[in-house]
Amino acid sequence: MTAMVELRDVHKSFGTLHVLRGVSLSVRQGEVAVILGPSGSGKSTLLRTINHLEKVESGTVEIEGELLGYRRSGDRLHELHEREILRQRTKIGFVFQNFNLFPHLTVRQNVAEAPLSAQRRPKAEVAALVTRLLDRVGLAEKADAYPRTLSGGQQQRVAIARALALEPKVVLFDEPTSALDPELVGEVLEVMKDLARTGTTMLVVTHEIGFAREVADTVVFMDAGRILEQGPPSQVLDGPRHERTRAFIGKVL
Ligand code: ADP
Ligand code: MG
Repeated sequence: MTAMVELRDVHKSFGTLHVLRGVSLSVRQGEVAVILGPSGSGKSTLLRTINHLEKVESGTVEIEGELLGYRRSGDRLHELHEREILRQRTKIGFVFQNFNLFPHLTVRQNVAEAPLSAQRRPKAEVAALVTRLLDRVGLAEKADAYPRTLSGGQQQRVAIARALALEPKVVLFDEPTSALDPELVGEVLEVMKDLARTGTTMLVVTHEIGFAREVADTVVFMDAGRILEQGPPSQVLDGPRHERTRAFIGKVL
C-alpha cells in the first residue's frame, strides 16, 4: 500500500548548518505520528519541508505517491511552478504554535478563506462546511467573533478548523499547545484526539507525552537532524533504546 506521507533521505541546510541529515519516514493513511526531540533538533524544519515551505536539498517528499515540489523527468527532478506547488499544498493542513489567524477576519471568515479563494468553491457550500467544522471544534457560537476576543485555546481550535477546511490528506501540527496556558491545553488536545479517532492522518510535534501515549501509532524521536529511534509509544516511551531518548523523556515527563 502507498504511504500517505513518505520522506526519503531528506537533507536540508541553512548556510553551513546541516539541519536535516537524512530523514526517512513513512506514515500510512489514518496514522498519527508524534515527533519528539530537543529544541533545535529539526522538528519544525521537517514539517516545513513536508509542506514545501522549505525546499529540500536532496531526498524526496511524497503525499500518496505524488512527489511534492518537483516532477521527475528520467532521473532528474525539476521544480514545479508556484501554482502547482500551491495546488499540492492544499493537500496538507498546517497548525502552528501561534495560531496565525487573520486578525481582521471573523472566525467564520478565517475558516472560509482558503476554500473560497484557493479552491473557488461555491459560497453556500463553503458556508455549510464552515458551520460543520466550527461545530466539530466546539465553536459554533463564536462564528462571528474576532480572534482577539477568544482565548488561546479557542483560537487554536479555530486554526484547526481552518486547517481542515481544504479537506487535506494530512494535517501537520507544530507544537500546537506550547503557547497555551496550562488550563487551555486539554481542550485543544481533545479536538486533536477526535480527529485521530476519525481517521485523520496526522504528524504532531509536541512535548505532550500523555497525548503521544494515548493517540500515537508511532513515536519518532529526533536528535540533531536525524531520527534516532521510532516505534509504537510503548516501545519508545517506556523502553527507549538510546540514552538520549531516555534522557529527553525523563526531562519532559
Ligand atoms: P526544532 O523545531 O526541533 O526546535 P528547528 O527545525 O526549528 O528545530 O531548527 C533546527 C535548526 O535550524 C536550529 O538550529 C535553527 O536555529 C535552525 N534554523 C531553523 N530555521 C532556520 C532558518 N530559516 N534560517 C537559519 N537557521 C534556521
Ligand atoms: Mg520547532
